[in-house]
Amino acid sequence: MTEALLQKQYEDLGIKKEVYEFCEKQLDSLKDRFSEIDKVAEINQMKVLSAMQKAKISEACFNSATGYGYGDIGREKIEEVYSEVFHTEDALVRPQITCGTHALALALSSNLRPGDELLSPVGRPYDTLEEVIGIRESKGSLKEYGVSYREVALKEDGSFDYDGIKNAINEKTKLVTIQRSRGYATRPSFSVKSIGELIAFIKNIKPDLNVMVDNCYGEFVDLNEPSDVGADLVVGSLIKNPGGGLCISGGYLCGKKEMIENASYRLTTPGLGKEVGTTFGINRSVLQGLFLSPTVVSGALKGAIFASKIYDELGFSVFPGPDDERNDIIQAVSFNDPDKLVAFCGGIQAASPVDSFVKPEPWDMPGYDDKVIMAAGAFVSGSSIELSADGPLRSPYAAYFQGGLTWYHARFGIMNSLEKLYDADLVAKDALC
Ligand SMILES: *Cc1c(COP(=O)(O)O)cnc(C)c1O
Repeated sequence: MTEALLQKQYEDLGIKKEVYEFCEKQLDSLKDRFSEIDKVAEINQMKVLSAMQKAKISEACFNSATGYGYGDIGREKIEEVYSEVFHTEDALVRPQITCGTHALALALSSNLRPGDELLSPVGRPYDTLEEVIGIRESKGSLKEYGVSYREVALKEDGSFDYDGIKNAINEKTKLVTIQRSRGYATRPSFSVKSIGELIAFIKNIKPDLNVMVDNCYGEFVDLNEPSDVGADLVVGSLIKNPGGGLCISGGYLCGKKEMIENASYRLTTPGLGKEVGTTFGINRSVLQGLFLSPTVVSGALKGAIFASKIYDELGFSVFPGPDDERNDIIQAVSFNDPDKLVAFCGGIQAASPVDSFVKPEPWDMPGYDDKVIMAAGAFVSGSSIELSADGPLRSPYAAYFQGGLTWYHARFGIMNSLEKLYDADLVAKDALC
């Protein structure tokens, strides 16, 4: 009875019987996996709850100060909660940090000095960091300030090149940056455990260097965070996982006291640091978003696995595979065809609660080298914990799918993307049997 009603609802939204039944069949095989994900979410929910209780969050925390922002107690409590959740000495969590790239750039530029060297032992970092570091020339890059950069590519099989890393560490190496998620590369995302092993190896060679982890899209996927396995600093965006879809802006840094102080001196000024900065009334959404984040992330993870299963069954190359371990909420599907990539993104856009009537087009996005197509009909502009898909227009024409504030919405988005491919004859009609 409810089954028939559900199918009718989807039909009303434009999902044909063949598409619905095909998707329904794939879902059957994912039940056990989904119940594992629910367990992780439950444990992380209790972790966040207890951090909030320990920090004695009260209604007064939802107010924010004006002007200099002295005594913005909500701001201070938020940073206490973040430190507790990530098990770090201190945290900087601010709406003035405009995005993930800004949070990472802040962490790097404040913890490196002229003559220091930055090392990425896991290959090329996220596209937008190329200009921050100076891999691509840019005004104000670390390179321009006399900070050098070295990277060690992953081995062919995606594993760490330990010999190469050992050779790359020298007397100038000050900070190591490890990106947990794959970003726009087709390499695996790293488990927290493997990040811990890499950190142990690096610190064994040079104990006094600091390790930063770009934690974007990884928060609450696992029971541990990189800061639980030796990272000195973890960094991410509040319009991704930890904002839970409610936070309207911001970034976070959690880590060693000294590194957070450096970052705060750079964000505001030497001397003022964390003591100033109003929060513009967003404290409630930062806290409520963090509170919801473990369940939101679990829904997004289910959506990613569902997408992987569907497109794998249809013969596309998917990354990670439906049975693979997950270390972030990103799902890549390689279409090897720009039309299919565009149709997929069109389906995601049309499934959105906001701007469902607009058609996404490839565009030259600031900070990216190739044209990028982005599909997102989000309550918070650019929020990629909400159902969204994007992909650079370059071979292998991979769509990177992520998010969904609820599993049901992620599910519908994926079905709708397949519907668009199906309608345009971009998947074989008999493939859906
Ligand atoms: C999203 C992301 C960033 C930063 O992106 P913004 O769009 O600036 O928030 C950095 N690294 C990784 C791995 C990411 O996924």
